[in-house]
Amino acid sequence: MIASTAPARSCGPPNALPSWEWYASRRERVAKVAPNAGHAALVALENRTIHFTLITQNVDGLHARAGSRNVIELHGNIMVDRCFAEGRVLTPADEVPGTPPRCARCGAPVRPGVVWFGEALPPKALDDALAATHRCDLFLSIGTSNVVEPAASLPFAALDAGAAVIEVNPERTPLSARATIVLAGAAGEVLPRLVG
Ligand SMILES: [Zn+2]
Repeated sequence: MIASTAPARSCGPPNALPSWEWYASRRERVAKVAPNAGHAALVALENRTIHFTLITQNVDGLHARAGSRNVIELHGNIMVDRCFAEGRVLTPADEVPGTPPRCARCGAPVRPGVVWFGEALPPKALDDALAATHRCDLFLSIGTSNVVEPAASLPFAALDAGAAVIEVNPERTPLSARATIVLAGAAGEVLPRLVG
């Protein structure tokens, strides 16, 4: 089974230029947000499913904080730091403080671990998402308009591979006409009822 979720708004800075201050304020807001009933329902679903993959375009890390274990973050995670030059994930001990901080090993600026507009998705994340999509028997498309590629193609790939697809979204999307079941509503309301 696969659950695919997406954010309500974009993850890039307002002027498409990286701004450490902008991300710092965004991180403070994300840190104050608690996972909702939809996140909890997906944890419950994972706990009763043998093979479960959660593919998300969200960058807030809330699925992992809620307790989801097998999570693929297609657009990265805003709460994680990476070295601009090396790409590796950094801990506070790997950084020299500053605005932005610097990588203690190579001196390059530190960047948030999100995928910016125009950047390619992490190849392993995309490969893992495609592999899980092709072998699943049920695919849930949750809270996404299904227009941002390549994630938008995943439920169609699942359908083509013979899986059933349940769409959970307040509005109709390009997927709605082909989905096996369409449940109109917000994830935080529909998923607890679906799982319960
Ligand atoms: Zn570095």
